[in-house]
Amino acid sequence: MVVHLVNSGLQSGSNIYLVVGSRTALIDAGLDRDSARNIAAIKKLLNGRGLDMIILTHFHFDHIGGLNDMLDEFGSEAYAGAGDAPYIANCDSAYTLSEMFGGTLEPTEITELMEGDVIDLGEHRLRVVNTPGHTCGGICLYDEVTSSLFSGDTVFSCGIGRTDFPTGSAKELAASLRKLSGIDVGMLYPGHSETDSDGNRAIRYGLMMIGGGF
Ligand SMILES: [Zn+2]
Repeated sequence: MVVHLVNSGLQSGSNIYLVVGSRTALIDAGLDRDSARNIAAIKKLLNGRGLDMIILTHFHFDHIGGLNDMLDEFGSEAYAGAGDAPYIANCDSAYTLSEMFGGTLEPTEITELMEGDVIDLGEHRLRVVNTPGHTCGGICLYDEVTSSLFSGDTVFSCGIGRTDFPTGSAKELAASLRKLSGIDVGMLYPGHSETDSDGNRAIRYGLMMIGGGF
């Protein structure tokens, strides 16, 4: 199992993960202002290989701001949940919060992912789990091979995503956390905060925080 943390969201932007199998995928793209540093780190990790795809967990700019730079550099295909993809494709700043983060994004082609879609990377098989609440079309990616979860801003090691930005919904987030609690999660790779080796515990804690039970 090969998952690299390219950029720690503890510094700036979101966490960025590089997942390496027979194909390669980047999960989230960080902020545009960090792109030069992030691209250098990714190229070093890829060691001459290409980057097949960039998967965005949701439409907030701290996760998508570096997308144009990554696409220019690697020529990858970009993917996002069907609910969020149009906002990214059009870079609708009222939703992406790009102005708040002081950046811009060019219109981009985004392939829409649906619930249950499986992205086969060889040693990793990422299943799309729709988890609205932080945004209307946010997704988590569950690696069926390693029982790990890339959780975006739905759930962190010790907390949950905000629901007060446009299209956010505490009710939907609670339902999404309940849905995740039915999945066996070992490693948790969140969009911010540290990774966590006990994803099930993190999800239970998130459910408790939002008042959806323990
Ligand atoms: Zn977010």
